[in-house]
Amino acid sequence: MSCFWWLKADKKSNVPSHIPHHENSIPSPQLRQSDFRYQRMQKLKSRTGHQECGEEHETKCIQGYPPAPTTFLIVETDDIYAEHPFIYAKIVPSANTILLIDTGCGGASNDPDIEITSLREFLETTAVADNGGKPLNEQGRMRYVIVLSHCHYDHILGVEQFTVDSPILASAYSPSFISPINLPAHSLCKGLAVRTPTYTPILVPHQSSILGGGAPLGVTLFHTPGHTPDELALWDEKEKMLYVGDTLYEWEHIIFPNEGNIMTWLSSLDALVALVAQSPSPNEIRINCGHRTALRPALEQKTA
Ligand SMILES: [Zn+2]
Repeated sequence: MSCFWWLKADKKSNVPSHIPHHENSIPSPQLRQSDFRYQRMQKLKSRTGHQECGEEHETKCIQGYPPAPTTFLIVETDDIYAEHPFIYAKIVPSANTILLIDTGCGGASNDPDIEITSLREFLETTAVADNGGKPLNEQGRMRYVIVLSHCHYDHILGVEQFTVDSPILASAYSPSFISPINLPAHSLCKGLAVRTPTYTPILVPHQSSILGGGAPLGVTLFHTPGHTPDELALWDEKEKMLYVGDTLYEWEHIIFPNEGNIMTWLSSLDALVALVAQSPSPNEIRINCGHRTALRPALEQKTA
């Protein structure tokens, strides 16, 4: 058994913005058991359509309209920390690369019967129906580029699965914040008595285009300090997707650790709102967060 399984787009529990954690703990009977679930990133059919059918039928509005064809949401569901982090995998065949946004909690599961506890093993071995029945990175043929939205433990505990052969990108906004001497405390690993992962990030400047093997991946990195100094956002303009880590999500308060700063956070939000507002179709931009929230209208979330 593995710790990963996938959801079909017509199942209620597959709606990312409404994922109730307890319901998502039900293992899929037809697959190797896993802590991870995935979903191809699809947009809501339309805002009008959603309003027509009403909140109670919202799940039926999930359609490929058009689908974001290259990106999958992977949810680590049964982790021992109850964080249920959202991990995003953008497949870029032209660059022979999978861009991973965050690496989750490392697969430590509440379920002792789970077989696959490695995100990398999940990516390379677990059949994904929405990917033609093949793993997202069958036999590891594509390279990985890892972007850490920030250094909190629930985003980095899986990173060592990739350090041997993959670049690990992080914000260059505050190098000291994620320095080896500070990482145990700032990742919260020390406070949780969890071993801090060892990795050497490539620190990326503000507004950098992300490359894989020298080829563009269609994503731009922005520094968005506030929740933490190293918080970042990724902007996929072509697919109209904005990935914001823990800068925002629904239904729960944004936590500001000692090193966070609410005024800086507000400035980062203003910058993200401006980024979306200045895009050609701001109302079509979807926001995707590190927990709880994916595929929600970006302007609605950031100006609420
Ligand atoms: Zn965080």
